[in-house]
Amino acid sequence: MPFIITDPCIGTKDTACVDVCPVDCIHPRKDEAEFATTTMLYIHPEECIDCGACVPACPVTAIYDSPESVPASQKELVDANTIFRIGDADAVAKAEAIVQQHVQSHGDLMAVAPAERAGAH
Ligand code: SF4
Ligand code: SF4
Repeated sequence: MPFIITDPCIGTKDTACVDVCPVDCIHPRKDEAEFATTTMLYIHPEECIDCGACVPACPVTAIYDSPESVPASQKELVDANTIFRIGDADAVAKAEAIVQQHVQSHGDLMAVAPAERAGAH
């Protein structure tokens, strides 16, 4: 089961997880064109090897260890992680559309600073 990035990444997006992932499955990296336009980062669902290295690296507790452990308020972001494929413009646009819908429908969470947002899930 792949790990999942959730909404504390929005407004943080510092790529600390990218630096520790042994299989380079978290995208977009800072050197990829999509980095400038994506709202958050995503974990490739087939490439993640469930090592767990990214979880303690994240300063805002945005990463969960499986789709099942993702809080109810974040469930649509499981789909955003699942659909995202680096280099596939259509998939990027679809993932970002899911995130934008999440942002619009969770104004309460977005009003919380990223470092405290996971605690509000
Ligand atoms: S669990 Fe391991 S392989 Fe999966 S995204 Fe995190 S660091 Fe990468
Ligand atoms: S470490 Fe956390 S906040 Fe930073 S890019 Fe990764 S998931 Fe997003």
